[in-house]
Amino acid sequence: MIVVTKSSITEERIAEIVAHIERAGVQAHVSRGTDRTVIGIIGKAEPTLAEHLRQMKGVEQVIKISKSYKLASRDFHPDDTIIEVKGVKIGGDQLVVMGGPCAVESPEQIDEIARLVKAAGAQVLRGGAFKPRTGPYSFQGIGVEGLKMMAEAGSKHGLLTITEVMTPEYVDVCAEYADILQVGTRNMQNFDLLRKLGTIRKPVLLKRGFSATYDEFLNAAEYILAGGNPNVMLCERGIRTFETYTRNTLDLAAIPVLQQLSHLPVISDPSHGTGRRELVEPMAKASVAAGANGLIIEMHTDPDNSMTGDGVQSLFPDQFARLMKELEQLGALVGRRFDTPKEPAERFAEWKVV
Ligand code: PEP
Ligand code: MN
Repeated sequence: MIVVTKSSITEERIAEIVAHIERAGVQAHVSRGTDRTVIGIIGKAEPTLAEHLRQMKGVEQVIKISKSYKLASRDFHPDDTIIEVKGVKIGGDQLVVMGGPCAVESPEQIDEIARLVKAAGAQVLRGGAFKPRTGPYSFQGIGVEGLKMMAEAGSKHGLLTITEVMTPEYVDVCAEYADILQVGTRNMQNFDLLRKLGTIRKPVLLKRGFSATYDEFLNAAEYILAGGNPNVMLCERGIRTFETYTRNTLDLAAIPVLQQLSHLPVISDPSHGTGRRELVEPMAKASVAAGANGLIIEMHTDPDNSMTGDGVQSLFPDQFARLMKELEQLGALVGRRFDTPKEPAERFAEWKVV
């Protein structure tokens, strides 16, 4: 249930309504929007509560919400959520690009890639220290040492960092070193992990499970929000379909659908969404055209020798830099902007694609 207030309502009246809701033994969540304030109610309320609220001064409407997720829904929070991390805004009209390798491999590798990510104009360095691999004999990531290497490269080059956390026990150490924590597709319904992420305040990028519906995806986000962490972004990273040419099928419609259903920023991952380098650029552009708030893109200086199999979907640095430049122009057409250096592509003459 939500209570929509009149635009002229005072703070005292809002406090009275909240107190009334809490006396009924349920929770009230106040969302102050640009035009109106919405008070969302969570919990099982007596049927008479709606009637009482309707009669209170300052109340315009009381609407029953049938969705199973509440805090993640746009009904509860009509305005876009904008997450601010060290001055970088994620959400609203900002376009955020997170670039970097699938896995952190060495201090030299992550430092060089960070330099290139920054020079191309992106704001966030991605890199996995803990890798969720399909087989137990594959490279599993270099662990905490990798977190430290990435933190150092990020701070040296002025980039935020994002890294995947796979278990509740590692949330604290990942949060100590990284600015944003990523939940991978395989862990979207790892409810213990989601609950633990609800107890911190670091932003979480939640990837869509490769066979999750929108409803399941938003309920997974709800776990983190319900725990008290409002800083959640959703990431469409491709779903499993009958098609085998691409690694996954990037569900472009998910971008506007999630933005209609939810106020959380939506990030697209065209790297895992396609699994093919030559498709990353067109699908990155398509994602921005569809309204994405950001992209997470794999980029490697030596993709053929990357330690995970994801080199085949990693851009070369010059491709990444060119894409950034084009995204700036495209973003301007669809109301998305970000600051890129003037001529990033030219700085990458040394990185010719052969
Ligand atoms: C990754 O970002 O490297 C990754 C493993 O992603 P996903 O969970 O989407 O497969
Ligand atoms: Mn990867």
